[in-house]
Amino acid sequence: MNAPRAIIVFGPPGSGKTTLAKYLADQFNLVHYDTGSRLEKRISEAGPLSSAELKKEKKLFLHGDILPARAVLKMVMNDLRRISRYGDGVVLSGSPRSEEEAGKLVPFLEKEFGRDRIVFIGLKVSPKVSIERNSKRLICSVCGASPIGLPKNSRICPICLGRLDKRGLDKPETIKIRLQEYKEKTKPIFHAYREEGLKFVDLDTTPPPYKIFQSALQKIRKA
Ligand SMILES: [Zn+2]
Repeated sequence: MNAPRAIIVFGPPGSGKTTLAKYLADQFNLVHYDTGSRLEKRISEAGPLSSAELKKEKKLFLHGDILPARAVLKMVMNDLRRISRYGDGVVLSGSPRSEEEAGKLVPFLEKEFGRDRIVFIGLKVSPKVSIERNSKRLICSVCGASPIGLPKNSRICPICLGRLDKRGLDKPETIKIRLQEYKEKTKPIFHAYREEGLKFVDLDTTPPPYKIFQSALQKIRKA
């Protein structure tokens, strides 16, 4: 295919969506749009004076539930329209997460970026590996990197030397809810698009990231 203009990376929590999305954005010169961190930013800005709607979103988000599709969709589509208006393509991680969201988002992407230039990337990883990765994951409090392969107990970011923290979303109870949500609500929605003949690439994300990167590039170029 020609270089993709919209890549949709999906997979259970801990499958490495964000890492792969950042890599692909860099390789194909696309904008990386992560719905989760965009929401997290929006929600962290919510305070006592925010709208009742935003306060409700905050509560659901912190509990690990999927937010109302309508609220997420409105935010995502506004952002994507802006990206497309600048002539840029996009790598999405974290959207769509529900059938309702997909039903509106996928046709929107086809219109904005062209049906032939969209590719779905489905990541697979066992629940055991997913929980293990999530509960160990550290995020840099300064640059937002999520480094792997660090010496044990290291709390210093190898990129900017900032402090590494655990995310609230990565508590084992929260991860279990998110895995279940993914299995029930997110995973099934992609079947229909595969049947419709949209381009799909499947990747097992158990191997080390550099191997996954290589195989993702090969498969996307052939898609
Ligand atoms: Zn850092």
